[in-house]
Amino acid sequence: MSTPQSVLQSVFGYSEFRHHQADIINTVIDGGNALVLMPTGGGKSLCYQIPALIRDGVGIVVSPLIALMQDQVAALKQLGIQAAYLNSSQHFSEQQDIEQALLNSNIKILYVAPERLLSDFFLDLLDRCHISLFAIDEAHCVSQWGHDFRPEYQQLSVLQQRFPTVPRIALTATADLRTRDEMKTQLQLEDAAFFINSFDRPNIQYQIHDAHNAKENLLRFIDTEHPNDAGIVYCLSRKKVEATAEWLRKKGRNALPYHAGLSADVRRQHQHQFLHEDGVIIVATVAFGMGIDKPDVRFVAHLNIPKNIEAYYQETGRAGRDGQPASAWMSYGFQDVVVLRQMLDGGNAHEAHKRVIQHKLNALLALCESVTCRRQTILEYFSESLPTACGNCDNCINPPDTWDASVAAQKALSTVYRTEQRFGVGYLIDVLRGKDDPRILDNGHNTLSTFSIGTEHSVQEWKSIFRQLAAQSFVHVNSELFGALQLTERARELLKGDVEFRARKYVAPARGGKKERAAGADVASANQPLFDALKQLRKDLADEQDMPPYYIFHDSTLKEMAKRRPTDHKAFQFISGVGEKKLLRYGDDFMDVIKQHPLPDLLNNTLSDTVNATLSLHLDGLSVNDIAQQRDLKPDTVYGHFAEAIASGLIHCEDVVELEPAHINSIQHMAMSLEVTLDTSLKPLYETFDGEWGYGLLKCIIASP
Ligand code: ADP
Ligand code: ZN
Repeated sequence: MSTPQSVLQSVFGYSEFRHHQADIINTVIDGGNALVLMPTGGGKSLCYQIPALIRDGVGIVVSPLIALMQDQVAALKQLGIQAAYLNSSQHFSEQQDIEQALLNSNIKILYVAPERLLSDFFLDLLDRCHISLFAIDEAHCVSQWGHDFRPEYQQLSVLQQRFPTVPRIALTATADLRTRDEMKTQLQLEDAAFFINSFDRPNIQYQIHDAHNAKENLLRFIDTEHPNDAGIVYCLSRKKVEATAEWLRKKGRNALPYHAGLSADVRRQHQHQFLHEDGVIIVATVAFGMGIDKPDVRFVAHLNIPKNIEAYYQETGRAGRDGQPASAWMSYGFQDVVVLRQMLDGGNAHEAHKRVIQHKLNALLALCESVTCRRQTILEYFSESLPTACGNCDNCINPPDTWDASVAAQKALSTVYRTEQRFGVGYLIDVLRGKDDPRILDNGHNTLSTFSIGTEHSVQEWKSIFRQLAAQSFVHVNSELFGALQLTERARELLKGDVEFRARKYVAPARGGKKERAAGADVASANQPLFDALKQLRKDLADEQDMPPYYIFHDSTLKEMAKRRPTDHKAFQFISGVGEKKLLRYGDDFMDVIKQHPLPDLLNNTLSDTVNATLSLHLDGLSVNDIAQQRDLKPDTVYGHFAEAIASGLIHCEDVVELEPAHINSIQHMAMSLEVTLDTSLKPLYETFDGEWGYGLLKCIIASP
């Protein structure tokens, strides 16, 4: 008898269910309906795949995206599951074969597009099959208010009428209340068990930066945090997409453009490269990403701000579906606000609709300018609360300083007022900083009382102040006047000095900072060569079958292999992501590579990763100073690592400490007479030598037997 747990283990190779997966699966297995809200990467697919495998008959999955169907089916086949899809991209004969297989009960999971499912022919066919369940993926497509509206979804209520005893499970990553209600009523799921998960994506690190030098900052971010990783860079215009892709290519990255202006062939080819090759960066307009299931996208960057927080959440959500660390990076400047306002005011929407959009834009600006945890702000927007700050966003990691900017704000606002609310930020800053500029002279603005009263702040600081004034609605950007700033009601209070204006301090992004990599850092350096070899093998195997590497194993699975180095079937099967089929199909190939990369004796120990990283460089013949430099550590810290290895009998003191044996001896004697050991404080010994020898080096000497 298969249980959900045994299928999870033997087919998928995972040991535990996540979130509500187990409850959802049991509900459906027992014949009940379910409505599931879970963020991207949460693990929605298993919620219907496992019940479909356990219940009798075929599970029918309604999915709106052809590309996704193909992906899912290819991945299921890798697991040895009888899966298929039916859509308009197939030849007639292929479709017939599948229909026949369906009637012969040779398919366990079938993906279909909604319009196909609803055809009389197909419904009649289903009447003659035994159906285990209906899964309605991307169920938010039923909402006519959402941007993914699919009219056929509204007719799916026919399933309830025609197959009343077959359980139905609807799934989506869209959270808002209105969509939720629509799914319930339109899909006739009023009685369904409802499962909602936190929408937090804890593995995604959020960072939002000033748009000054955005391109260089983006490159620095990619180089330091994601030197070899796949990622997506979003830009607003096609022109910027092209320019950015070319620029990144010049800087040595494999970056490809993707936008609606490219031919279908080129787009397909770029997407193929993104999915099949390692470390490709796609530079795209927002058109790219929907229906892309690549689990190891390690970063999503925005060179322009998205429309609103929903779009930001959805787009950044394409990073880190595999649950491994990933980054969401965004640069944001005043120009973005002006452009978005123009788009908003230019549209011919109703006033009420415009107000909603305006409100959403303001919420996004507030997020950009916030000085507190970004994740808390985002989740709050989705009516969810995170009790403590996340510790994994830029504001948590480097809390920004704030300052009382009331006086600066007054100067800024009165300049807006005195120039008759007709100018944009650039001009206003020039006036404030007293720039010698013909336009200012022509307008006579050099005679204003605010001319040159703001020299104490740089242009960038003023830009930041103006942005925050806009984010807090003290000024309004008039798009009809080319982004001229105008005062709002609130501005009056500030000008009168009735309210305080606290602002985030502008900090120029650090140059060449040596930040720890967000992703990939979890491969210990001793395991890196093996990890690289495993990746190469995966790539070769994937190319042979013309499919993306992650169909074979995810990065996290390879990382675990590199760490545990299993060399027999029993040990290999314990690696997360290795099910029975993949063990049989790929196990030996991967174990061969593991055997070719034995762990050097020196590194075969139970010491910490950081100690082993030092030891591995020592094995490569690097000196203490070289190691210190490469690892960005103090030399004495490196000695401290060696001390641990000496204490464990892995190396000798003389291997690493370049002192005369007699000298070492005398230090050891002194330690003995002071009764200093590894278990006591080393301070007396340190002080006896007036700090001539660091603690790490002394430890090496004391640890020596
Ligand atoms: P969603 O459809 O919700 O975006 P998926 O179903 O594609 O998410 O799952 C995301 C990733 O998480 C997949 O690679 C999947 O194999 C993996 N996954 C799902 N459930 C588990 C689990 N219980 N343990 C480990 N990995 C899981
Ligand atoms: Zn945070």
